Amino acid sequence: MRKNIVAGNWKMNTTLDEGVELANDINTLLKGKKVNCDVIICVPFTHLTSVNAVIEPELIGLGAENCSEHDKGAYTGEVSASMVKSTGATHVILGHSERRQYFGENNEQLLAKTHQALTNGLKPIFCVGEVLEERENGTYNDVVKSQVEALFSLTPEEFSKIVIAYEPVWAIGTGKTATAEQAEDMHAHIRKVVEEKYGNEIAENTSILYGGSCKPSNAKEIFSKPNVDGGLIGGAALQADSFMGIIEAFD
Ligand code: PEP
Repeated sequence: MRKNIVAGNWKMNTTLDEGVELANDINTLLKGKKVNCDVIICVPFTHLTSVNAVIEPELIGLGAENCSEHDKGAYTGEVSASMVKSTGATHVILGHSERRQYFGENNEQLLAKTHQALTNGLKPIFCVGEVLEERENGTYNDVVKSQVEALFSLTPEEFSKIVIAYEPVWAIGTGKTATAEQAEDMHAHIRKVVEEKYGNEIAENTSILYGGSCKPSNAKEIFSKPNVDGGLIGGAALQADSFMGIIEAFD
């Protein structure tokens, strides 16, 4: 059966000291608590090794926010999947809308990054989602379908390692959340798209997370939907208490 997951995306926030303190605080809050989801924190590259040293792997998984599409070599400033893996990380966010929008990442590059992640034993948290115009002009189902289809050259075994995050771009960092019904409709659509390609078993076992202004006050309603398997959390993951409030939405 698929896993419930709450994953934090810290983006370009926190200094190293602040990040280690935040990770430590989350770890402390989770200690001795029985929670009903996997918890992952995805942190800046610079923080991975130090954060890994203060979290307990049975409580918190560790992820990066990106990785290179290349294996290694003359790519100044890039960070490879094998480098990420060598820090102790287990996951990597790929295709976040901010990467697509500000850094021009396209489907071809995202497939190459996904191959790099999988080859190096990292689980991709693969983000998809429409912009406001696509929501308003009614093309959102097709847009998200084609983003998911970008991965359809993966083998079934490879695809079964993917976590999908549906993040409507108009809801990210805006305070405007998709309704639980909008999230459920899209998650069911994504699951159907996956089922048509990879069959029922893989579709049923794929965790599909919702992301976009998720907070302790709305997480419970969104997570209660049958096709919503947790959240990818931006702003509310930057404070241990609010992140914990979202984790506890799975009671
Ligand atoms: C995100 O960027 O992945 C995200 C969901 O951000 P926020 O929760 O701040 O909307």
